[in-house]
Amino acid sequence: MEKTKTFLKKSRLNQFLETLRIFGELHGPTVSESGVYCFSPLHEPAQLQLDYRRTQIPPKKYLLPFREEILHYASGTYREGHSGAGDLVLFGVHSCDLEGIAYLDRVFLADPADPGYSTRRSHLTLVGTSCEPDDFCFCPEGRESSSCDLFLAASQDGFHLSSHSARGAALLSGAAHLLTKGPPPPRRPSGTCLTPQDPQLRFSENPLWHKFASTCVSCGACSVCCPTCYCFDVREYASLSGGALRIREWDNCLFASHGEVAGANFRPDRLERLRYRFLHKYCGFTPLQGVNSCVGCGRCKEVCPVDIDLRELTAPEPEER
Ligand code: SF4
Ligand code: SF4
Repeated sequence: MEKTKTFLKKSRLNQFLETLRIFGELHGPTVSESGVYCFSPLHEPAQLQLDYRRTQIPPKKYLLPFREEILHYASGTYREGHSGAGDLVLFGVHSCDLEGIAYLDRVFLADPADPGYSTRRSHLTLVGTSCEPDDFCFCPEGRESSSCDLFLAASQDGFHLSSHSARGAALLSGAAHLLTKGPPPPRRPSGTCLTPQDPQLRFSENPLWHKFASTCVSCGACSVCCPTCYCFDVREYASLSGGALRIREWDNCLFASHGEVAGANFRPDRLERLRYRFLHKYCGFTPLQGVNSCVGCGRCKEVCPVDIDLRELTAPEPEER
């Protein structure tokens, strides 16, 4: 009987958010003073921007900090370390970003698991919400990801809740007093992502690479904002007092320095760097794992200062139109 009570009326959303706080510090989509959407702590329900399209920086920032100390050396003693993690509930994550985290899990939780990522991931509860795609989105339309603990599918009067893990079931149970029986969840049409099987995806020889490379300024914004880009560099800093630090920080394959090894540069040209990034998305990881590492969030198109649009690569050749 209780199992059918999975409908949350809109008027009870704020109470529902309060129940989530029991499971960890509550974060969600907010808007900064400068008008930028970002995931940040939700101190007040009024901060929540549930109708956002995408945040500038994806939720990977919670799992892969921009910079973290991974080794500390002092007085002849080493201490491995990574940023501590408390329980955190991330509310309002769209399906593309949930799939982005599922992708990062494949990379960083594979044997041997990355200790810092693994710790932070175990403390992270994901609550997904449905979204309305805009012109930049190209994930399967209306996709409701199960790569989360709990998913809220919006309908006219409220939200249909579905749990996808034991933690999600606990969240449902914690909010049971707020839930009612509701109408069946809305059916959404499913669309298609770009896939490497698409015959139009002539990645390697597509003349568009030359067009893109002629305008790309190698700013790296497309990689910084990508939910599945995770390149990092490891640097060591010694101090004159005898101690030393080893840090890990985000790197960027659009930067010329990324391909430098022992005085040589494997990708000195913009075209090579640009193409390398997207080949990795569609032709590197996909055959190994069976999933695209582009989740269609549209961020790279939105932030690119010269309007480079990956989707042009899938347009039919002129003679095929
Ligand atoms: S490549 Fe672009 S559209 Fe695809 S996941 Fe990354 S930022 Fe999003
Ligand atoms: S955001 Fe655009 S200009 Fe900047 S590196 Fe990416 S493709 Fe090049």
